[in-house]
Amino acid sequence: MVRIKHKRSKCIGCGYCEHLDSLMWQMDNSDGKANLIGSHQINNIFYVDIPDSELVYLKRVISICPVNVITIDK
Ligand code: SF4
Repeated sequence: MVRIKHKRSKCIGCGYCEHLDSLMWQMDNSDGKANLIGSHQINNIFYVDIPDSELVYLKRVISICPVNVITIDK
């Protein structure tokens, strides 16, 4: 398992993550930022665990986010 970490407050709303992986990411019309689907929030950071088999998609999303707010939690 891999844990995704999303610093949502720093998201600039470009929509690239949703474009690449709409099963994990969805833009929120209420504030224009991305939601990490199925995540839980701890101290203003959003987390979700995914199987290793989805890591290839996650790495694409991580590399395309222009403000580097998506990381793998170690
Ligand atoms: S790619 Fe990054 S900045 Fe763009 S919407 Fe997704 S999380 Fe936000």
